[in-house]
Amino acid sequence: MSEPAALWARPIPASQTHTPATATSRLAPAFLQGRVGVGAEPIPLQTFAGSEFMEAARTNTDGFDAQDQIEGNPNMGSLWGVPSLLVVPMALAWLYKRWAAMRQPQGAQHFFSPDAHCTVDVSALESPAVSMATVTGERTQQYVLSMDDLVSLCKRRGFVYQASDLYGGFAGFWDYGPLGVELKNQIKAKWWKKMVQLRDDVVGIDSAIIGSPKVWEASGHLAGFSDPMVDCKESNQRFRADQVLYSAVLDAEGKQCGYVSCQQDEVSNEKALAKKAKKLVKEAGGKGPHQPLNFKELIDCPVELIDQIPSPATGNPGTLTPPRDFNLMFSTNVGPVVADSSTAFLRPETAQGIFTNFKNVMDTSRVSLPFGIAQIGKAFRNEITPRNFIFRSREFEQMEIEYFIKEDDWERCHQEWLDTMHKFLMETCGLRPELVGTEVHAQDKLAHYARACTDLTFHFPFGEQELLGVAARGCYDLTQHANASGRKLEVNDQQTKTKFIPHVIEPSLGVDRLFLAVLCSAYDEDEIGGEKRTVLRFSPEIAPVKVLVLPLVKNNEDIMGRAKDLFERLRMRWNCTMDITGAIGRRYRRGDEAGVPFCVTVDFDSLEDGTVTVRDRDSTEQKRVSEDELIAELTKAIDGY
Ligand code: ATP
Repeated sequence: MSEPAALWARPIPASQTHTPATATSRLAPAFLQGRVGVGAEPIPLQTFAGSEFMEAARTNTDGFDAQDQIEGNPNMGSLWGVPSLLVVPMALAWLYKRWAAMRQPQGAQHFFSPDAHCTVDVSALESPAVSMATVTGERTQQYVLSMDDLVSLCKRRGFVYQASDLYGGFAGFWDYGPLGVELKNQIKAKWWKKMVQLRDDVVGIDSAIIGSPKVWEASGHLAGFSDPMVDCKESNQRFRADQVLYSAVLDAEGKQCGYVSCQQDEVSNEKALAKKAKKLVKEAGGKGPHQPLNFKELIDCPVELIDQIPSPATGNPGTLTPPRDFNLMFSTNVGPVVADSSTAFLRPETAQGIFTNFKNVMDTSRVSLPFGIAQIGKAFRNEITPRNFIFRSREFEQMEIEYFIKEDDWERCHQEWLDTMHKFLMETCGLRPELVGTEVHAQDKLAHYARACTDLTFHFPFGEQELLGVAARGCYDLTQHANASGRKLEVNDQQTKTKFIPHVIEPSLGVDRLFLAVLCSAYDEDEIGGEKRTVLRFSPEIAPVKVLVLPLVKNNEDIMGRAKDLFERLRMRWNCTMDITGAIGRRYRRGDEAGVPFCVTVDFDSLEDGTVTVRDRDSTEQKRVSEDELIAELTKAIDGY
């Protein structure tokens, strides 16, 4: 399981939600975490004496290693080999050099990366020898999340394991552990509740994963569900041509000195790319620094240029093949005979099962336009480059709605579904607003039948990527199936007494992608009583475990008995756990790391007065509540009513 050590600082100002949030630094995370403050004007928040800095640095070797990678400075790693007295001046000298190089007229500048949105007042660092450094910031908190941290947390706490782990894993497939399956089920259940059960105009179905191949022929998937693929002949790696970016490198005088390339989610690693560009200019005998890089997708690269583009795998030109189409559908054989005629496909999306059941639902349910059919289910795509943990896998789940409408209503309904989806992400799933963005697909990039498509994006640690799409697909799918099957897929217009094939709006969301976004958004680190804590701030509505019941001591029968009774009552309503081992603080931390929003402690006072302590995960505040009122209070906090 090797994930890129993507680094992520947060939060990102709402005004900049379209900027990819990657490539920041972990230099001395203690410098960053929780020590950067709010204010339009940079406010000095934390003054580090040399010794404090040294301590921060000493306890964060990890950060220096990561910084090392970013800067490509082999000497920084050896900081830890030098006597500690040298650490402060060396580190301050380095900081000074780094920050002064980025200084803006006001003396403040983005910290490490334009995406970190943390400013540094370099005036306090005029001399590398000063023993004080002042860090100022624009936002309340600054935390760092790496995909490696997240992947290891997921494994450690039983959220996600690599599939076939015993055998070294299987690329593009993932298994969900005890906490993971609960979180996933919560996401799906809440989506179903909000999109189907609480609406009068949407009904649900559950269609087969394998259907007639004729479905995929009619829908166009057989001929066209492909991604453009390029191979690197040297490394034998495959890439999606629309996810490889390249740029010409021009020297100061405009002379072309070669090309640089990278995968889409590496483009924010500007430093590494600039370094390569600098090298190319030098090797080509070019003049001055290189001009800004201007990236394009490899799919748009003229074929005659392909030989000059370096492979993202090796950095060497001349090894990439021209892009060619690769169909993403997994095939299998149905029945005892393996022959072309028995070939069938695992569905690459749940949507077609909805279209093919349109008539069944119309005939058997009391629905009339506008109405939607929803489905949650597995989809399979033989992705060329499954990457970034569960973001892009070969087996995943989708939650899709086909909302059937009259043609004239498409713009209004498209916007309404975008708003509905946005609200679901914010209010139900608790995604942090500053991490969610919007991307409107350009008209010339839309499928020929589509009117519009807008993605809601999320700032993952590896960059801003599509989380869900809301597409206005015209009447293409139903028309195709009507033509191919010879069946009428029309509705009556009561007003005009005519029949027509409805148009459709399709909100389509990946469960696994949302799962990852929920984890990224919830992941937090803070300090409680001087002790570092990792906490998953899931919204109570989707938290995998809602309540953790804690008997104060395990060797008192009365306390244990009372706690067990309470636990039995609570688990009838929600997924709850009971933890009896270890000090209470340690048990709180375990709950925090699993994202449990409420801990309920039964103690000696409970035996006397029938009250328990309810501790809030986020604020860590505790309050006494009578057992009689507990369920009502928790219901309000968890279910919102
Ligand atoms: P991408 O451009 O990222 O490949 P897409 O535009 O092909 O995605 P759609 O066909 O619109 O995706 O699928 C709808 C949703 O299904 C996506 O928004 C995403 O949430 C999810 N999804 C698609 N492909 C994958 C995958 N390989 N792994 C996990 N989720 C996926």
